[in-house]
Order: sequence, then structure tokens, then C-alpha cells
Amino acid sequence: METSYTQQGWNTDNSYSRLPEILFTRLAPVPVQNPGIVVINEPLAISLGLDPDYLKSEEGIRILAGSQVIKDFNPIAQAYAGHQFGYFTMLGDGRAILLCEQITPNKKRYDIQLKGSGKTPYSRGGDGRAALGPMLREYLISESMHALGIPTTRSLAVITTGEPVFRETVLPGAILTRVAESHIRVGTFQFALVWGTTDDLRTLADYTIKRHFPDIDEANGAENKYLSLLNEVIRRQAFLIAEWQLTGFIHGVMNTDNMTISGETIDYGPCAFMDNYDPKTVFSSIDTFGRYAYSNQPIIAKWNLGRFAESLLPLISKNEKQAVKLSNEALSQFDEIYNNYWMVGMREKLGLFNEDKTDKALIDDLLSIMHKYNADYTNTFRALTLGRFEDTAFFDSGEFFTWHHRWKERLRLQQESEDESRQLMKKSNPSVIPRNHRVEEALEAAVRENDFSVMKQLLNVLSSPYSYDAEQDEFSTPPKANFYPYRTFCGT
Ligand code: AMP
Ligand code: MG
Repeated sequence: METSYTQQGWNTDNSYSRLPEILFTRLAPVPVQNPGIVVINEPLAISLGLDPDYLKSEEGIRILAGSQVIKDFNPIAQAYAGHQFGYFTMLGDGRAILLCEQITPNKKRYDIQLKGSGKTPYSRGGDGRAALGPMLREYLISESMHALGIPTTRSLAVITTGEPVFRETVLPGAILTRVAESHIRVGTFQFALVWGTTDDLRTLADYTIKRHFPDIDEANGAENKYLSLLNEVIRRQAFLIAEWQLTGFIHGVMNTDNMTISGETIDYGPCAFMDNYDPKTVFSSIDTFGRYAYSNQPIIAKWNLGRFAESLLPLISKNEKQAVKLSNEALSQFDEIYNNYWMVGMREKLGLFNEDKTDKALIDDLLSIMHKYNADYTNTFRALTLGRFEDTAFFDSGEFFTWHHRWKERLRLQQESEDESRQLMKKSNPSVIPRNHRVEEALEAAVRENDFSVMKQLLNVLSSPYSYDAEQDEFSTPPKANFYPYRTFCGT
């Protein structure tokens, strides 16, 4: 069912609201007092078929604030469950409303969700609201991830509500408009398994296949489409986590409700990019035991996929033993798929076009040198790309001398020229990432001084991370030593 475009560019549907009622609650966002616009993502608006000027109009702002719902929307709060730090809980959209699905001019379907839009039946004692700082943080980092080429939900707008939110202090309230291929999570399937019938679960799985994996079709020869669904989600997550590792991104709260089926990064709460290379890096204030540390991310992803596989068992086979066997076989592929993506990415980061059996050792040895010398992750690869070895933390070391020689020898094992290698490295090694101190500086100016210029400048720099423009140089500098220890917080 596709409606045609309204004059404002809306072409909406809400196919999710036609799924079994147990999966959601129909309700509208709670209107706010005095909405004000902070930022609108103009290119994203245009790609969705929406006129940025319309979104900035009175009606546009009211919609983004949740104060107005237009006729064709069919707003809902989604139900889901999740393992949070290993413990299973019933969750759901406690402060978000899925307004509608927008069909873009390119005929792609995106969820338009308001985050911070008031209480829902899933709020569990929370106020349903969000503070300005964390919403701007999500906007900044998700848009930076997009520019880095990493699959992610995106941010269309942040508006202030004109209402205070009460956390440890009183903060300005805000609403983020999140755009996603969908908000279906591992936790959505866990919810359906536990609280729905097998028919509900199957309907959700069929819907997910149709929406995200249309190539999986029994008619096209898939013998077991639910096993194919599991395999595809494993593949997409392996790709995503490899991309995170390759850029030094630490998600911080990889609970199963924060893992999408589409393979997009979701939920920018305590996430942050690593500065010095240390596999044990954790920033999140609540991650006391380092469950979601940098080097654990692939392990946790596989654990979460195990929970996804469990949710699919009744669909994979009526024979439970057979279902477990098939899904374990699928899960056992994760490490190899992940390692392959990671190796592809690492070879590109080192300018390698072909494969050699010595590559893994070459890469591992570089990482050990980086770890030993507290080298900045991003800037080490940036320095290698630019040939400015003197900029690395280990330039004078014997280890690097030897490693550099091995790398040069390895580069000779391919036909491509040095220049071609450098071009490949430039495309694979960002020169700017959202440095933690820069993010904090931008949020501080916005929240404390109502000055959004710092954030807008940062957004602009982060929009072309591979351009190596000289003006971006100052944004590559790591924070001063007194910036550490750096702590992040769940999006409050
Ligand atoms: P998250 O840490 O963002 O993944 O959120 C976990 C769960 O807590 C989700 O069900 C959220 O909807 C819910 N939640 C987070 N903050 C609030 C809030 N301020 N009010 C109500 N629910 C919330
Ligand atoms: Mg979440």
C-alpha cells in the first residue's frame, strides 16, 4: 500500500502497524510546550523527498516535536525485549514513537522515529524524554558514521522542546528524529518468541525478510528461508562489527535491543572512538567489567546473534534438535566471515590490493607496536597514508624500523604503484573522526551557551573524513593527556 506524495513531500505508510498487535501500541507522541529548531539535516531531508524549508516551517517543527500528527501517519511505539549486560528484560520504545515509514523518491522505505517524544506504555518509570546534549551527540556521531561509510541509522533533526528534563541537573529537553531502514532488533524477535505465538513470530520473520532481504524467497530456491535470514543477519553484523573495529568505534552498549536486523548501527548512547590503540578500551561509565570493550565487540556480536538464532529456532525446524544443529552451524561461520571482512579492510588500510599469507602477521605486529607505544589509532594510519612516519608515536623505535621494511617489501608483491596504494589508503583511513574532546566541546557550547556554531563546524568537517583537506588538520589532534580518563553515559 503506497500513498502518493503530499504537497509537502510525505509519502507515508506504516506497514509495521499491520503486524500482530502484540508487537506495538498505537499512540501519538506527547505534544511539547515550545518547540524550537536546532538542526535540520538538509541533504537527508531531500533524499527522503522532504523539503528542508517545509521541515523548518511551523507545521514541520510541530511534526518534528511530536505536537502534530498528520493524517496519513499511523504512529506506534514498538514492543521489544533485550539482554541488557547479559540479563533478559522486557523493554520497548519507552521514549520513542515510530511516526511513519516514508517512501523516498528512489522507492526506498525508511522509518521516521521521534526519540524523546514522551511516555509510552513501555516507559517503565522513565519520563519518556531526552536531554539536548545526548540527542546532539547522536546526531553528530551517527552522521559522522554515515560519512565514514559505516551502515547506521541517521539523524534528520534535533528540536528543543522548551521543557526542562530532570536528570542529575535540570537540562533542556530535546527530540531527535531518527531515520532507519527499520527499527527491528534482535530484541524484537526475542519479544515475539517469549510473548507472542509461533504465528506472531513467523509473521515478524516473514515481514523482516520481505523488507530487508527480499532475495530470500522460497520461490527462488531458498530451502529454509528462516535459516537464510539467520545467515544474512550474521553476515551483515559481521560486516558492521568489522567496520567498527577498523575505525576504532566503540559502541558501548551492545545489548540485544541495540542490535538491528538491517545491519545498521543503532543507539548512540555511550559510544566513542578510541584515541590510543588499546584493545581493552571502555568509555561507558556503567560498563564496569568491560563487557563491551573494543576487543570484545566481535565476541559480543556473536553472542547476540546466538540470542537471535534462539528466537528463530521454532521457525527453522519443527524438530528442535535439528533446529539447534542448523543454527549452530550458521553461527559457527561468524568468526570466519568477520575475520575475512576485517582482513579485507586492514589490507586496504595498508594499501594492499592482493593477498599474501604473511599479511595477518604484518597487521598484528603493527597493532602490537601501536599498543606498546600508546599510538593514536586513527592518526597512525593517517601518518602511514601520508608517508609522515615522523608523526607516529613509535617513529624512532627499532620495531617500527623493521616493520616498515617488511611493509615496503610486501607492497612490492603487487603490481599496483605506490601512488595507487596511497590512493587506496586515503579512501580507507579517515583523517578525521569525531574526537571525544571535540564532541564534548561542541555539546558544551550548544547546551551551556546556546551556541550551535561549534557543532555545525564539527559536523561540516566530519562530513568528508577522507578528503585530507589541510583545513581539517586541527581536528585530527588527539586530546591533551589531562582529558583522560574519559567517561560516557547512556543516552539520557
Ligand atoms: P537504551 O539504553 O537507549 O537502549 O534504552 C533501553 C530502554 O530504556 C529502552 O526501552 C528505552 O526506551 C528505555 N528508556 C531510556 N530512557 C528512557 C526515558 N527517559 N524514559 C523512558 N524510557 C526510557
Ligand atoms: Mg536502545
